[in-house]
Amino acid sequence: MKALKLDGQGKVRIVEAPEPTPGPGQVAIRTRMSALCGSEMGRFRGAGMGKGNSGHEGMGIVSRAGEGVTRVRVGDRVGVSAIAGCGRPECERCRAGQSTWCPDRKFYGSMHAEQFLAAEMGCLPLPEDVADDVGALITGDGLGVPYHTSLKLAGDDIRTIAVFGLGPIGLGSVLLQAWLGRRIIAVDLSAERLALAGNLGAALTVDAGAQDPVEAIKAATDGQGADACLEAAGVPQTARQCFKAVRTAGLVAFNGEQKSVELSPSEDFIRRDVRAVGSWFFQVGEYPEMLRLYRDGLPVKSLVTHVFPFERAQEAFDSFAAGATGKVLLRYEAR
Ligand SMILES: [Zn+2]
Ligand SMILES: [Zn+2]
Repeated sequence: MKALKLDGQGKVRIVEAPEPTPGPGQVAIRTRMSALCGSEMGRFRGAGMGKGNSGHEGMGIVSRAGEGVTRVRVGDRVGVSAIAGCGRPECERCRAGQSTWCPDRKFYGSMHAEQFLAAEMGCLPLPEDVADDVGALITGDGLGVPYHTSLKLAGDDIRTIAVFGLGPIGLGSVLLQAWLGRRIIAVDLSAERLALAGNLGAALTVDAGAQDPVEAIKAATDGQGADACLEAAGVPQTARQCFKAVRTAGLVAFNGEQKSVELSPSEDFIRRDVRAVGSWFFQVGEYPEMLRLYRDGLPVKSLVTHVFPFERAQEAFDSFAAGATGKVLLRYEAR
């Protein structure tokens, strides 16, 4: 079969790779679509990957099932959560569908390939009314991260949300939160992504290269600051801006991965009663709710700006890395 290889320094190649063999509790998926994620860009631009690839949002048809697999069957069309819990009946987290909190969770990658391996526990069946592209989004980071984050942003006192960083994750939150009735202030440096955020429902867009986002957010909120700020850029400067732009007793939520940032307990937290939370990936138990949102009319598909055939993966990665796209998908030939 053909699989993507990340050579590093912005180069990808399609190479021959052995077909995956599912072990106990695992299945092989014949891929129909895989999505690109911002978290792949570090390795794409940098050192690349020796083995496998960074794809972790995929959907397709179950082609082989390993020993003891009972939840899905060969021929089922499924989306796949890259993080799967252990699935043992005695695991409290897995029983509750809290896959990312399972102490024995496993990560499945290499989904930019004609076939990939998945855990039975990570397979989320796609009903017929869900198209392939939507399926890849509602069973992966595309809607999964914005949905999981929305649970942290719940509450009637959160009416205005400032979203810092409009990659696919930030854009997903713009779409979902605007649809839920929040007033969204979207902040980025890319004119294309600011325009996308406007189309997805942001009430106000702020070009951080042209104006100070903290001042712009204060000006738009009677000097108070936003009720919540979402850090989806993953850089220290925007993290600090989130704390400056949030109102007293407001909430800062972290989506963007980064190692460290300097904050002041007194100025940023204590004396303003500010809370900060992290939000990672999504949990398989949240899938029914994500499916319901789609069926209730959440226009999930509007997050997708580009679909490339797998053979044109280099072009897909180049477009995505240029920072002017929404979600970018790879399409595999149906066989
Ligand atoms: Zn991701
Ligand atoms: Zn478990």
